[in-house]
Amino acid sequence: MSSEPISLLAGWHFDNSYARLPESFYTRVNPTPVIEPRLVCLNRSLARSLGLDPAAFAGADAAALFAGNRIPHGAEPIAQAYAGHQFGNLARLGDGRAILLGEHRTPAGDRFDIQLKGAGPTPYSRRGDGRAGLGPMLREYIISEAMYALGIPTTRSLAVVTTGEPVFREQPLLGAVLTRVAASHIRVGTFEHFAALGDTDGLRLLADHTLRRHFPDLAASECPALGLLEAAMERQASLIAQWMRVGFVHGVMNTDNMALSGETLDFGPCAFVDSYDPGAVFSSIDLLGRYAFGQQPQIAAWNLARLAEALLPLLHPEPEIALDLARGVVESFPERFQRHWLVALRAKLGLFTAEPEDASLADELLRTMHEAGADFTHTYRNLRPGAPSEPASAAEVTFAAWHRRWTERLARQPQTSAEVIRLMNAHNPAVIPRNHAVEAALAAASNGNDLAPLERLLAALTTPYDAAGQPAGLLNPPPPGTPPCRTFCGT
Ligand code: AMP
Ligand code: MG
Repeated sequence: MSSEPISLLAGWHFDNSYARLPESFYTRVNPTPVIEPRLVCLNRSLARSLGLDPAAFAGADAAALFAGNRIPHGAEPIAQAYAGHQFGNLARLGDGRAILLGEHRTPAGDRFDIQLKGAGPTPYSRRGDGRAGLGPMLREYIISEAMYALGIPTTRSLAVVTTGEPVFREQPLLGAVLTRVAASHIRVGTFEHFAALGDTDGLRLLADHTLRRHFPDLAASECPALGLLEAAMERQASLIAQWMRVGFVHGVMNTDNMALSGETLDFGPCAFVDSYDPGAVFSSIDLLGRYAFGQQPQIAAWNLARLAEALLPLLHPEPEIALDLARGVVESFPERFQRHWLVALRAKLGLFTAEPEDASLADELLRTMHEAGADFTHTYRNLRPGAPSEPASAAEVTFAAWHRRWTERLARQPQTSAEVIRLMNAHNPAVIPRNHAVEAALAAASNGNDLAPLERLLAALTTPYDAAGQPAGLLNPPPPGTPPCRTFCGT
């Protein structure tokens, strides 16, 4: 009989390829134990899909595990080194409050980072406390799981525990630790770290590691680093189009928050738009709208240009040639994005075929929605072919004209109305984590220890394309007069 707590034996199978890289990639550091770990959220279905036994995660042992008080067998905790352009300025960063336990191999052979966010200080904490508050960690749990259910590449959330210790932000918060599950935590900023040090050997090792992990088919190509840049670009173009399909604003697309895996990473001041506005900004510190909803493709391209710069020494020994190669790939981003965005927009409008005017048809609806302040999610979800009701206002007249154009377009494809509606319902969610519902769930969870609204919200978000049986409060736009949402970076 082992004397290990059952949570440490839940089926973990660590194989830590990142910790086998040279020490310039990370610092070995253990989580700082907390006073009173208590399990608040456990993602049973994610545990099962990782080949872990959710039954093992009950009681005090599991809370100790997810708080970092006990380290499972095979884990080798490290804080990863990285840099990053934050609002355009390069900084040396690194995991200041996250600790990577290691890489868990599932029975199917997939590899996932298991990271504790809020696990205590590291050598990269600078002036930070290494900790996180319960509200922001539950927020990441909700939004990341919503993104997953929407079918959008994302890191996921396995558990949230409270620490029994306060963290001091604008006001004191109850401390918490989130267990994040990711394909990896390799960021654009990880490449910038080695480029800034002029460490070309480190850069090459990182590129090789990233290729093995995320793009194994490219490792044998003529110039793997160029393939890596192209593949990263393609994944980001697709990802941003998927974000915009569901109205998601990441809020802080710094290069340290852009993952080479193509997963959505770091849910800080993010939100979903209610009324459609390409200028929608949710971060309280994004005063210039750098990361506004409609800016996301441009910012992704800017970030990828930083990746291209970092990779230059690997692209070609002649700097001029390397620069030309990089420029060629970076300049392809707008077209790549446009291709993915048009695919998404066609699906949202129930279009199975392609016509040259489709982009303008889609844009005209977006413009009309913006002028009318229409709800993004509601508008798409409730679009139906056929005659709209008699217009009563100027905005409705504009919408009716668009609707006629759309109905004529639908008539030029062979699919039936039922097929059109099925396609639209599969790409236009009925339920998104609306700010007012998220805030209400967080307030109940943090103030009154009442987890019921959080559990209801999480349950609804697991089937976002299914309107049947969903609470009306989650389907509808926020009540008129709801103040616009601001989310904070100081999480
Ligand atoms: P983020 O804004 O969460 O992407 O974090 C940007 C950088 O700040 C990363 O290097 C984080 O590790 C670090 N950081 C954020 N919050 C804290 C904190 N409370 N303590 C230490 N480092 C932090
Ligand atoms: Mg970050």
